[in-house]
Amino acid sequence: MIQSKNILIVLLLLFISCKTEKASKKEAKEQSEVQTEIVYDFDKTILLNHVKELSSDAYEGRETGTQGATKAKNYIISEFKKLNVQPLGNDFGQVFPLKEMQGENILGLIKGSEKPTEYIVISAHYDHEGIKNGDIYNGADDDASGISALIAFAAYFQKNPPKHSVILAAFDAEEKGLVGSFYYVKNPIVEQTQLKLNINMDMISRSDKKELYAVGPQHYPQYTSIIENTKTSGDLSLKIGHKEWTHMSDHAGFHQAKIPFIYFGVEDHEDYHKPTDDFENIHPIFYTNAVQTILTFFKDVDNSSL
Ligand SMILES: [Zn+2]
Repeated sequence: MIQSKNILIVLLLLFISCKTEKASKKEAKEQSEVQTEIVYDFDKTILLNHVKELSSDAYEGRETGTQGATKAKNYIISEFKKLNVQPLGNDFGQVFPLKEMQGENILGLIKGSEKPTEYIVISAHYDHEGIKNGDIYNGADDDASGISALIAFAAYFQKNPPKHSVILAAFDAEEKGLVGSFYYVKNPIVEQTQLKLNINMDMISRSDKKELYAVGPQHYPQYTSIIENTKTSGDLSLKIGHKEWTHMSDHAGFHQAKIPFIYFGVEDHEDYHKPTDDFENIHPIFYTNAVQTILTFFKDVDNSSL
């Protein structure tokens, strides 16, 4: 008797597991069908390849002042050049002192078609934690995801020139205390008064809850309705929240100089500042939806008066 019961249980379990497998396959198929319907203003594969490249072991975790950081710097500059991004200063690099060494911001310019003397600074940081105890901290989410979005925007602007001038800022030494961005705000190359808004992206590539947060409207309420009316992509939800992140990334220097900012980021995850923040652990669909949502926000802002 017991034996026939066991067989029944096994059969039941088998039935349930193939049911759930079928269901998850169906969901994945539906999701990819939905994804294919969404219009992206950039090439998703190229975007993901940038993250994969910059977060590969060859970049040794991109710690400021290391060969890995120099390799990342050269990669970003070569992508900017391919996309006809101009250097903001004499060249793309802005060297700044950092204790016994130096860091280097990368600053690109796309001249605005209608308001060329009003600048929107779109930023991310290319440095990360480097190598510790033999472990490489690849920083796929933190912040290869933001830097790759920056390059995707450059590709978009090549075909769709913005009305405002755009400064594409790949900051260095964020992990050392926001050093590169604070230096830039004090040495903006253009007049500081011409800097109208900072859009900062730091960790935008994964969220189990599919939530992308915007910080800034809490201080600059003129952006609340633009954020709330931003058309999001896919099943991502865009939320205003986490005011406590106001000083947690490169937007802090702009805020201190009373330049409005909108910071986009996700809540911390189990791989935050761990050697496991690898490309394999990002959420590609959420990420592409996040980048498209931020670009949509930019377009809405660019069409408004700042
Ligand atoms: Zn970061």
